[in-house]
Amino acid sequence: MDLEGMQQLQEVDIQRDQAKRELQAVLDQISDPPFIGQLDAELEAQEEEARLADQAVREAHAVVQTAQRRIEVTDQRLYSGSITDHRTLEELQRDLYSQRQQLPPLTEAENRATQEAEHAHDASGWLQQLRTGALDVWNARQSELDGERHEAQERVDEFSRQAELLREKLTQDDLDTYDQYRRRRPRVVATVAGGVCAECRLTLPTIVVTRARRGTRAVECPSCGCLLRVA
Ligand SMILES: [Zn+2]
Repeated sequence: MDLEGMQQLQEVDIQRDQAKRELQAVLDQISDPPFIGQLDAELEAQEEEARLADQAVREAHAVVQTAQRRIEVTDQRLYSGSITDHRTLEELQRDLYSQRQQLPPLTEAENRATQEAEHAHDASGWLQQLRTGALDVWNARQSELDGERHEAQERVDEFSRQAELLREKLTQDDLDTYDQYRRRRPRVVATVAGGVCAECRLTLPTIVVTRARRGTRAVECPSCGCLLRVA
């Protein structure tokens, strides 16, 4: 029984198990894209609001232009010299006065609409930035994890190659024994030094150590069950 060869294999297998756990830890962190459905809905609503605000600006502007044209028309009629009737002239003057009075609130409304549209566009831009930012952070983290996954996978593969080489040196009987033991515990072989099992620290009975030293057949540690190898 090649206990030394089995022990070398177990050390590589233990390292491979560790590398596999590290790989799994990385895989666990790799995630789906962030949920931005809520943000998308908000962004869409905000963009619709901006479109409506733009429409309101165009309408307010048209109202101001119409009012201005009416003032010009009244103004032209009043000073054209073609109207001489005193009452009509007075009426026109009153109209012109009233039309001019109405203009400032309309201009004010147009300015307000313009400001509201600007705010709506700013809010859209801000939400857009938020969305891009969330995706950027996710993308950066995922490519980082992808690199870690690649490295961890390479370590696992390397230990697998080493284990394969060591397995080739063992007989089928030893391999069967090794695999059977290893299904139950990470360590198959424990070194005995100074009469003590290196795995569980038990001071072994002399008879056990003597049998193990002979090495003709497998001797288990009575405490941890490892195959004992006297160095
Ligand atoms: Zn032991």
